[in-house]
Amino acid sequence: MPKHQQHLAPLAAAADYAVGYRDRARPLHPSASAEALRARFCVDLPEGPRDGAAVIQDLIAAAEPGLVGNTDADFFAWVMGGSSPIGVAADWLTSVWGQNAAIYQTSPAAAIAEEAVSSWVLELLDLPRAASVGLVTGATMAAFVGLAAARTAVLARAGHDFEALGLQGAPRIRVFLSDDAHVTNLTAVRHIGLGEANVVRVASDDQGRMLPDALGAALGVHDGPSIIIAQAGHINSGAFEDFVALSKLAKQHGAWLHVDGAFGLWARAVPERKHLTEGLELADSWSVDGHKWMQIPYDSGFAIVRDRDAHRRAMDISASYLNETGDDGRNPTHFSPGLSRRARGFAAWAVFQSLGREGVRALVERHCHWAETVAARLSAVPGLRVANQVVLNQIVVAAEEGTPADAIARLSDRLNASGQVFVRPTRWKSTDVLRISIINASTSAAEIDALVASIAGIWSEIRGTQG
Ligand SMILES: *Cc1c(COP(=O)(O)O)cnc(C)c1O
Repeated sequence: MPKHQQHLAPLAAAADYAVGYRDRARPLHPSASAEALRARFCVDLPEGPRDGAAVIQDLIAAAEPGLVGNTDADFFAWVMGGSSPIGVAADWLTSVWGQNAAIYQTSPAAAIAEEAVSSWVLELLDLPRAASVGLVTGATMAAFVGLAAARTAVLARAGHDFEALGLQGAPRIRVFLSDDAHVTNLTAVRHIGLGEANVVRVASDDQGRMLPDALGAALGVHDGPSIIIAQAGHINSGAFEDFVALSKLAKQHGAWLHVDGAFGLWARAVPERKHLTEGLELADSWSVDGHKWMQIPYDSGFAIVRDRDAHRRAMDISASYLNETGDDGRNPTHFSPGLSRRARGFAAWAVFQSLGREGVRALVERHCHWAETVAARLSAVPGLRVANQVVLNQIVVAAEEGTPADAIARLSDRLNASGQVFVRPTRWKSTDVLRISIINASTSAAEIDALVASIAGIWSEIRGTQG
């Protein structure tokens, strides 16, 4: 390589390696201990510069034994996406171009790509087309943005200017959510300056859905600015709240309704599943991930807010050099936290272009269909039961009554030890369960068959040894 290109050698080394990495069978879970990883990573900081390509080789050698196989077709553990090759390719370009998607002027291409993606997301999810969309790092940050807009709006309605006064002297805000809501919503509540004492946990049913009557009663007791956080796609059961009832209650009590739809919101892109989300379009804000079901590389999430002004007021960064865009285009930073930021629109743009409307529908529907198949087949396995109503991509598997307490943990350990699949046990509604998430675009019917066969085979051995 000519001398003037020597500094580009790391790019070529990484690109070469990347294609090979995705092309071969890879371990599903890390083989190295934390100690072994430290031995590779936590080396002395070199005194002087090193050769770039050699550093990349060292990074590969250090990281590989500690990688988790969520890009693999046999991965059913957490609800995580597979970083599709098209998304990764666009993500490379994002880094190669090194754009700062702060304001329109720092990267017109990045700003307009976000504009395009925002309108596609609203179209795919069939949400109000005039809503504003912030491209953020994930659903936790999307909830933060939605709730920050909510805080601004509910306090403004109560005659309090949050942007001027903060929470000092503000009327108390109450946040209502299911006692079984995703924990990151509580984190987002703290991020907007509220705490546990402001949270009202509403009783939920056996699928994790808030009981509308209980919510109505709670809203009746607590007067004043209120925010409801509802779930579209419960992390374990995949269940959807009764949004028709919830949006009615929100309206009645003047509450802001935020929907955590990290993965479940994509059910709206599927005509066969859209009924699950009925009434959800009446909410005030929504959070949804790009990096889960859509397979966009990390970090990708969308914060969607009906009240564009509240969204902008909550996120605004004002300085004379960050001049208004005029007719130029949008300033990405108006709708998400941070000034200097990754040009998140490029990878999302490429993924949505490659899938198209039909591709998004087919991806989500295929996983939901397989979840039903897996549930039906596992229900027929003696000693196992499916503990959730399978409406989406999540299957919760429990042992029948009378099975020793550690049976599910043993099942999970042995499945993972086989190296053929990766699953995770969890505890839900006081029961040890195996939670299976079908959410990787590269998963095919063959991996689904293999998963069911492995579970059935190992489970019958576990039962056999227990006599
Ligand atoms: C993953 C998830 C979140 C958090 O999203 P991140 O992208 O990990 O920040 C919130 N709610 C639900 C239901 C989720 O599945």
